[in-house]
Amino acid sequence: MTSPLLPTYARADIAFEKGEGAWLEASDGARYLDFGGGIAVASLGYAHPHLVGALTAQGQKIWHTSNLFRIPEGERLAQRLVDATFADTVFFTNSGAEAMECAIKMARKYQSTCGHPEKYRIITFEGAFHGRTLATIAAGGQQKYLDGFGPKVDGFDQVPFGDHDALKAAIGPETGAILIEPIQGEGGIRPVPSQCLRGLRALCDAHGLLLIFDEVQTGVGRTGKFFAGELSGVTPDIMAVAKGIGGGFPLGACLATSEAAKGMTAGSHGTTYGGNPLAMAVGNAVLDIVLAEGFLDHVREIGLLLRQRLAELQDRHPRIIELVRGEGLMLGIKTRVNNADFALAARAELLLVIPAGDNVVRLLPPLIISEADVSEAIKRLDAACCRLEATLDKTDGATA
Ligand SMILES: *Cc1c(COP(=O)(O)O)cnc(C)c1O
Repeated sequence: MTSPLLPTYARADIAFEKGEGAWLEASDGARYLDFGGGIAVASLGYAHPHLVGALTAQGQKIWHTSNLFRIPEGERLAQRLVDATFADTVFFTNSGAEAMECAIKMARKYQSTCGHPEKYRIITFEGAFHGRTLATIAAGGQQKYLDGFGPKVDGFDQVPFGDHDALKAAIGPETGAILIEPIQGEGGIRPVPSQCLRGLRALCDAHGLLLIFDEVQTGVGRTGKFFAGELSGVTPDIMAVAKGIGGGFPLGACLATSEAAKGMTAGSHGTTYGGNPLAMAVGNAVLDIVLAEGFLDHVREIGLLLRQRLAELQDRHPRIIELVRGEGLMLGIKTRVNNADFALAARAELLLVIPAGDNVVRLLPPLIISEADVSEAIKRLDAACCRLEATLDKTDGATA
């Protein structure tokens, strides 16, 4: 397979031509059940009529105007996000990394505006993922993403996941904020216990720090709440959002309290595309559905069902599955075999899942999946586990 694309991805030799609901059809006609959701993006599945309608209607009118003018659909989407969250104000972006960049800049600007320009440092956690820009790879702190790209952007202090003493020791005179994913996504669906999030809030309040949540993966209904922070009742000062909010259209947002955002005055930040009319039309259409009465109840119920069925799967295949964790429809299977091999075995059964850190396979299906989709996914995962067990038996036989 040769391609003119920069080879930064080891792509599977599969191209999808169309989709409907949680199902994708490849160019060879094979039908896959997608429990990866394009990495938690296709929150309403493929070809959702309401989203297609919103995009095509807006496409007939106007695509882009720039942020030099008012964008009424953007004001409406921002108002709806403000009404449904802790936030008072919203900045729209095209991606998660840009939403994070806005969050990082805002936290620094806040401290500077408060007379503390020295408080530019942000505490982050091992295993985190915040994006691929120079600042967000520094925030994520993963060596594999930093290697070869020159000096790491200064201003991020990383502490081990769940190490309270290290966290307290890391707070210094230059610390201005703490940044965390309420559930680490790429790090392997590692939930932060509620009492830890509450502890972070208290630490921030005690030290005059801002609490930043990266809800790029956990947000917009993924966990059965509109945002995952609600599971613990903790509100951040700043929050980055993307992935699911666009349902497949590139869209991100940085939400904040007016206090945290007080340094972000006219001219201090900007974007050419962020919040353009096409993106705003789709974002509003996504919220029409996710915020509709009963939708998040569906996510919680179907998530619970999937989780129960996965627990049964673990009982049937203890040599393959070590544990299952997560919330709502953000679930991780920690495997005893190589997680990439597990994902390949699932794909051989025409089920898409996504490897993550900590030898975990992520399930991030569209939030609209039905009980029948869950049964089908479990059937295919069962078959994938049997494939993997057959391989184990073969290698056991060879070494015996
Ligand atoms: C995907 C992701 C990002 C980066 O989003 P992009 O749209 O790829 O820039 C940031 N944070 C988290 C938690 C993510 O899952």
